[in-house]
Amino acid sequence: MLVDSHCHLKDSRYGKSPLEVAEDGKKEGVSLFINIATSLEGSSESSKICSSIPYVYGTVGIYPHSDMGVGTDILQVGLEKIIEGNSKIVGVGECGIDISDHTPARELGDQINLFEMQVELAVKKGLPVIIHNRNGDDKVLEIISRYKNSELKAVAHCFSSGWDVAQKFLDLGVYLSFSGMITYPSRNDLREVVSKVPDDMFLLETDSPWLPPQGHRGELNYPKYVKIVAEKVSQVKEKPYLTVASLSTANACRLFNINL
Ligand SMILES: [Zn+2]
Repeated sequence: MLVDSHCHLKDSRYGKSPLEVAEDGKKEGVSLFINIATSLEGSSESSKICSSIPYVYGTVGIYPHSDMGVGTDILQVGLEKIIEGNSKIVGVGECGIDISDHTPARELGDQINLFEMQVELAVKKGLPVIIHNRNGDDKVLEIISRYKNSELKAVAHCFSSGWDVAQKFLDLGVYLSFSGMITYPSRNDLREVVSKVPDDMFLLETDSPWLPPQGHRGELNYPKYVKIVAEKVSQVKEKPYLTVASLSTANACRLFNINL
């Protein structure tokens, strides 16, 4: 079985309901989905989606450039309320640092505050943090390193840095999650990380509807394509596909505290 540890099931571009998108994945061998929120409203949606589909779990979280203009304290209260109301909320995020040409953009100082709030919330609730990191390696590592030897659990979603940065995350006990990016011909740096990551520290994801794997670029991504990510990991790690599937599933269930 496979887990898509990071997908966004609700997207108007699909022209399908979250249930239909998840069902399509299930037919292709994806047994479990973690639906990731990116805003306060999306966190409420995520809660509804995982309440209504037995094999979907969810997160609550605020993306670095979402809910601009809303106070961090208000966002915290909102997220906490959703976590307390639904035992199928299994993580906080995606949250982190995004230094890009995103418009509108939250200033770096405010991004840091928002990220710190969500890391604290995750620790308080005993949930893992789903880290979004675009061009923010140093800042993210600095914040996460404050929690070394604490109860903090985390995953670097859609890992896209090199082995030097990967080692720093792994030293802090942070899982690495691989997406369709590992199939892109130019990303030998990522395949090096795949080949070296310990068997008990990696997850698989699609980040659907974003980041389709090679062969589907320019199209929407779907959770069923997590199979393509698993095949690539199998090839790079020179391990049987079924071994990669069961290792990544066990890792996701351990991180998100899900008993199958
Ligand atoms: Zn995402």
